[in-house]
Parts: sequence; structure tokens; C-alpha cells
Amino acid sequence: MIPQLVVRGLTSRLTCRNVAVRKNEFKWYHANAQQEPPLSKVAHPLTPQPWLYPMNLDDSSDMSRILHDYDTFLFDCDGVLWGIDHFTKFGNVKQCIEGLRKNGKKVLFVTNNSMHSRSVYIVKFKEMCNFEAEAEDVFSVNYATALYLKSIAKIKGKIYVIGSKGLSDELDSLGLKSFGYGMDPDTISDYRDDLLRQRLDPDVEAVVVGFDIHIGYNKIYKAASYLSNPDCIYIATNDLETRVQLGPNRIQPLTGVLTHAVNVASNRHPVVIGKPYHHLMSCMMTTYPEININRTVMIGDSLKTDIGFAANIGVDSILVLSGSTTKADLEKNHECRDYEMPTYILSSIEKLGEVL
Ligand SMILES: [Mg+2]
Repeated sequence: MIPQLVVRGLTSRLTCRNVAVRKNEFKWYHANAQQEPPLSKVAHPLTPQPWLYPMNLDDSSDMSRILHDYDTFLFDCDGVLWGIDHFTKFGNVKQCIEGLRKNGKKVLFVTNNSMHSRSVYIVKFKEMCNFEAEAEDVFSVNYATALYLKSIAKIKGKIYVIGSKGLSDELDSLGLKSFGYGMDPDTISDYRDDLLRQRLDPDVEAVVVGFDIHIGYNKIYKAASYLSNPDCIYIATNDLETRVQLGPNRIQPLTGVLTHAVNVASNRHPVVIGKPYHHLMSCMMTTYPEININRTVMIGDSLKTDIGFAANIGVDSILVLSGSTTKADLEKNHECRDYEMPTYILSSIEKLGEVL
């Protein structure tokens, strides 16, 4: 049985400075929904309401409630397990992860980075944080995309890929037939006859877009052409990550730029697997259908992706201030309500590691 998560969320806000009202309806459907009634989100009576300012766990002597209230811990990686520069190490990460496991908790890793496969993360966990992880506990967006195509979309034919080696490797690991990684083999031209001579594979059933340093005109042309068939499925690993500042006057374009280019060329909108969309949770449920959504918490550093993801799948969240979001950002968001607010805030998971 492959469980599928369908989130029917309606969020409406009546905002008057610090007042916001949310209406959310979440329903879980399983493949045999007739036999299993949908689960509804039941908030712990002591859980702070998300429109209030989140409880600061640094100041709380009741950190143990985290262990009491949750069985499954979803960890973002960049900015949580290590710095957003990918090199800064944080203290007590090993104690945090292993301490949770010793307390019988399920620890899963969810990252939107579409450059790497799971094997890269397993090595990085060991090198940066000195803890071990199994491949099935790492839900990188590349692996989740492959899992979605195989187990939920049930693709049997070929997949045209705009993406990294990490994405191509994950598709291969699940036995999916894909092509497109690397430099496009055809001559670059804007002449009609040259473009018409480029061969399109008639067995393509899906187009997938992820991070790709080999992006070029031919790839966008081919993706848009495949997607002119309405039966061709369109998947993107991410769409919100569009740019990052590498240094003074240096902007690196990210996956969202590629996704938007294909969107415009094809006049299609993809199923986006990465956070904050709920499909990543559907993919996790294919591997771990026993996860109790009412006892799951998401730990991340981004209001837009991590805390948004938690809100979309109906779980509580802990925003760590060790990554892309500062305390000032959080307070500004509390006023402006650009994004959902977390349930809790924590300076870093080092604090959690201290009590485990
Ligand atoms: Mg992050």
C-alpha cells in the first residue's frame, strides 16, 4: 500500500498587527481510504498556537517536552547541522542526533539541495558531525524526486532530465530510465531547420528539472517540446531557491531560475517536490507509513521553506537561528506575516544536544 498525503489547506489571515487567524484543514488519505478514516491534526493542549510569538526553548527549562511530545524529528541540513556556508561546524550535533535515537526517536533528514545524492550526505554527516546515517533516512530532494516518479507517479517510460549528477544517480538507483544529464549533445542553433533536426525521444513520459550547471538553450527547447504533450508529467525538485549571494557583486543562480525558464517556455507548472510543498512528506510516507504526523516536528533554519513545509503538512516546527534566519528576521515576520511562524525557536541544535 502506498500512502499518499493530500493537503487541502486554506489559510486565511485577518491581520491586524499581531493578530492573525488561520484556518487549516488537513486530511491524510491512504490508498485504501475506505478502510482507514483520515487522521486529523490534533494539537497538544500545551502547544503554542502558531500565530503567537513562538516559545523560546533556550529560555525554557522544559526542553524535555520536546522529547515527550514528538516521536519523529525531521532535520533540515544546511544551517542546522552545519553552517549555511557548508563549512562551519556546530557543537553537540552528534550528541543531539544520537541522543534522540537513544530515546527511541525516528530521525530523518530533509534537504532541498538538488546538487547531491544521498551518499554525499552520508559522508558529510560523518565528516562534519561525526554521526552515522542510513541511506533510507536521508530524503534529499533528488532522492525524493526519484521516489515520487517511481512510487507515486509510477513512471515506466523514459525521463528527460535537466539536473545534476546527484539527481541522475538517484533516478538510476531506483531503476528509472533517464537521460539528459551533462552537456546537451546537439549543435546549438536558433535556425528552425536545425532545431527541427534535433531528435526527441518518443518514449519520454516525464520531464524533471533540478540544479544543472550545463543548462542551455537546447535543454529548455527539448523540455518545452516534451511538455507540449499534455500527458508528459512535469516535475521540479525546487522552485523557490532562485539565487544566493556568493560575495560582493557575485550572485549564483539556483534551481528556481531553471524551473521558471522551463515553466515559461512550456506554459506548464510542475509538481514541485522540495520544501515547502507537501510532496516530500508523501515520499517519506512511502518508506515510513507508520509516521504519526501528530507526533512529528520539523527543525529548520528557513521560514520560507522549512517552517512553511511544517505548516503545509500540519506538523509543529522549531526554527533554529543558526542559519539563514536571524532574530530580527523573525520579529519582522511576526509583524508582516510574510511566512508562517514556527512553534518554537532555538538558537541552535547545540542546546538540544546539551540536554540529551
Ligand atoms: Mg537550511
